[in-house]
Amino acid sequence: MNSLSTDDFELLLRASRILSSTLNLEELLRFVMETAAQVVKAEAASILLLDEATDELYFDVALGAAGGRVKPIRLKVGEGLAGWVAEHREPLVVNNVKDDPRWSGRGDATSDFTTRQILAVPLIAKGRLIGVVEALNHKDGTPFSSGDLRIFEAFASQAAVAIENARLFAEVMGEKEKLATVFAEMSDGAVLLDPEGKVRLINHAAGVLFGAEPSRILGRLLSELAQGFMSVPPLSMTLGRREASATVELKRLEGKVFYLSCAFNRLTASDGRPLGDLLVVRDVTEVRKEELLKRNFLSLISHKLKTPLVTIAGYAPLLLEEPSTLNDFQVKALQTIKAQGMYLSSLVDKLISFSLVESETLDLSKHPFPLKPHLEEVLLLMKSYLEGNNARVETDKSVERLPPVPMDSDRIREVLRNLIENAVKFNPADSRRVWVEGETRDGSIRVTVRDDGPGIPPEEQGRIFQKFYQIEDSFTGQVEGAGLGLALVRRIVEAHGGTTGVSSEIGKGSSFFFTLPL
Ligand code: ADP
Repeated sequence: MNSLSTDDFELLLRASRILSSTLNLEELLRFVMETAAQVVKAEAASILLLDEATDELYFDVALGAAGGRVKPIRLKVGEGLAGWVAEHREPLVVNNVKDDPRWSGRGDATSDFTTRQILAVPLIAKGRLIGVVEALNHKDGTPFSSGDLRIFEAFASQAAVAIENARLFAEVMGEKEKLATVFAEMSDGAVLLDPEGKVRLINHAAGVLFGAEPSRILGRLLSELAQGFMSVPPLSMTLGRREASATVELKRLEGKVFYLSCAFNRLTASDGRPLGDLLVVRDVTEVRKEELLKRNFLSLISHKLKTPLVTIAGYAPLLLEEPSTLNDFQVKALQTIKAQGMYLSSLVDKLISFSLVESETLDLSKHPFPLKPHLEEVLLLMKSYLEGNNARVETDKSVERLPPVPMDSDRIREVLRNLIENAVKFNPADSRRVWVEGETRDGSIRVTVRDDGPGIPPEEQGRIFQKFYQIEDSFTGQVEGAGLGLALVRRIVEAHGGTTGVSSEIGKGSSFFFTLPL
């Protein structure tokens, strides 16, 4: 077998230069055709690409005498000479097509071209068949030689790689364009941040929400974009977070009331490298305004209801103290008024708790105070409740040693009352015990309310502080409540700069704590 000549090499080198000059698939296919005909001095060349979905070969472009007219033809793999090459992944030289039974002649039937000779080679890239390239009719009429075949094969392997690259490039560009369109057309604001928190992409909607010209903000820090807003929690904290996602609320500092909700989603490369964050921004002003109205309304009516209720609940027992002046019916009526008045009063208390938990700001009037007297006051107020439930609360000596800390006394009493009441009401035993202990550490006082109740399952411990959360009835033999007690405890303690928590073992009791900074 004779190897490629210097001329052949030069031809291939030139072909290679041409093939690598474009990533445009259509242009590339045209180059492949032109060059294919040149390398073997053929009258025409055609290229058939494989449609993997239907297992068919189709003419994408045809050149030379065949012109563009063969375009609509599709051949099944296995059909015709090109089909045979595709099926066997082997080259083929046929110097008289009429004598070859595999010849289908369909290409000629749709054009004025008469094929006499065919040199067909499979196009294979990365082991995958992508099509077949054919040279038709040697220009000088002589048969295609084995030398022609060799150079055509060498050319075909270059062409296959170039076509595959152009296709991949087109695919990537297509995906990029799709993404860019989705990003640009999103009705929500979208901002892509790099790991340093710099804006890499920002769509029109986000530009409008932040009141910034998108092109001017590219490459700048998110904090610059959100300059005119107050952020809760702070943006710097959110960017440095551990969790994959987080939500931040921004409130415009000046002008008309304007709230934005920003959902951060961390983006990570497949090798785990951080790519930054995708930020979806939404105008939530209307929602916040409605919530505020609802809260204010609730807070207003619950406080307004409280005054007449205090009167009702106060007078009914007073009247009952004079049974001699009342007939049986009146006694019964007053007893009902008293009971229902107390019930209504507890409902209103719940409403007040709810509006407190919901309120944006909790106004505290803090003064340094020791805890012990507050605890004593709470226990005194709860005396009949505790006795009625056969509950004994023991205050440890350590409580007395707690130093005074800045606190809003009314609110802290509420915290203590809630924790002690829970320790009693969720304990189904006949007699109940509660221990209150104190400790000073890490610049805070820490107060613990421990009980000998049923305990709390580990998976519930993280949820019980959420508002409206109650563990199902069957577990605690549910006592009436609204699932607001602990939410309120947490809200009040956090407003003081403290923390809350629980440790518990099923069957052994629960231990709730809260801290208050010194
Ligand atoms: P509520 O206002 O209805 O009392 P809380 O927010 O105070 O609700 O408590 C939430 C849930 O946590 C309760 O439904 C209860 O199941 C559980 N829980 C709270 N305190 C205790 C405790 N000391 N022992 C066992 N379960 C408790």
